Amino acid sequence: MQRQHHRRVGWYRYHAAVPAVRDPYQVLGVPRDASDDDLKKAYRKLALKYHPDRNPGDKAAEERFKEISEAYATLKDPQKRAWVDRGGGRSPQAGPQPDFSTVDWQTVFNDADVNVNLGPDMPKTGSAVFDALFGVMTNVLRAQGALPGETRRSQASVNLKTAREGGTTTAQVPGPSVCPNCRGRRLEDDGQPCRTCGGRGLKRRGSRVEVRIPAGVRNGTQLRLKGLGGPGNPPGDAYVEVQIELPDSVERVGNELRTTVHLLPSEARQGADLHVHGVPVTVPTGTQDGDVIVVPQGGIAHADMRVTVQVGVWSGLFRWARDKISTTR
Ligand SMILES: [Zn+2]
Repeated sequence: MQRQHHRRVGWYRYHAAVPAVRDPYQVLGVPRDASDDDLKKAYRKLALKYHPDRNPGDKAAEERFKEISEAYATLKDPQKRAWVDRGGGRSPQAGPQPDFSTVDWQTVFNDADVNVNLGPDMPKTGSAVFDALFGVMTNVLRAQGALPGETRRSQASVNLKTAREGGTTTAQVPGPSVCPNCRGRRLEDDGQPCRTCGGRGLKRRGSRVEVRIPAGVRNGTQLRLKGLGGPGNPPGDAYVEVQIELPDSVERVGNELRTTVHLLPSEARQGADLHVHGVPVTVPTGTQDGDVIVVPQGGIAHADMRVTVQVGVWSGLFRWARDKISTTR
């Protein structure tokens, strides 16, 4: 009832005990002496216009459909119509507002020959009827390919090497989503039903998809997988947000990476070619403890990597041995 306080047309609130109700005669566009037949005709005409089949997923149409249905249900009921004629909604003397929570909407629709069938699992009374009508129609029409599919979103973690050099990873697209194998065509190339989705063209619980990571990708980049989102016509797209996972010893400042490398005294003196987190780093001759080596394009998305040198026998030896193991593996 909150929304009705903002309406300029119709009735407004006089008393706290009487919630604002829009004049049902005005809602249906009929005179106050309208016959039952006039009411039915007016409601039918409006109901066709705002029918859930014609306006799936349209919140404004849903509100209007509910409003005209309530107006009709009010005026076709002699007691409720008498309440309106006494000034119900305007005057506290008219008594409390009629209760719509127990109205059987299927009866109302049938009564006015409005073609709406509430399925066996759908609510029959209350506002939930209208939510269900418009929501269910939306899903039915999407599955039939009469509405565009929804966008689906997910994430994929990649390591630094993949982020720098590019590669592939997998992401879980939430369901229901278009089958990535047949891309909704339901068939394999040989004409047999798709083995991944059983010929349905979609995966109800979503699907694992392979994602190509472009070289130099930034953290937070949204990769678009065209047509692999929610089913519909056209199918929705899936978006995968790239999350670059860095080792604890690497700090990211914007796209720039900062880390430390441990060198043997001999490596610092004579220079060396190393890999630091997969990035080739050339140590110049005569490097000192505390020097910073800047590696152009060593960071994310072609930014720099800044490597701080620490010279020490034991830490240098430890790093040297670990490098040996990883290169001989
Ligand atoms: Zn398939």
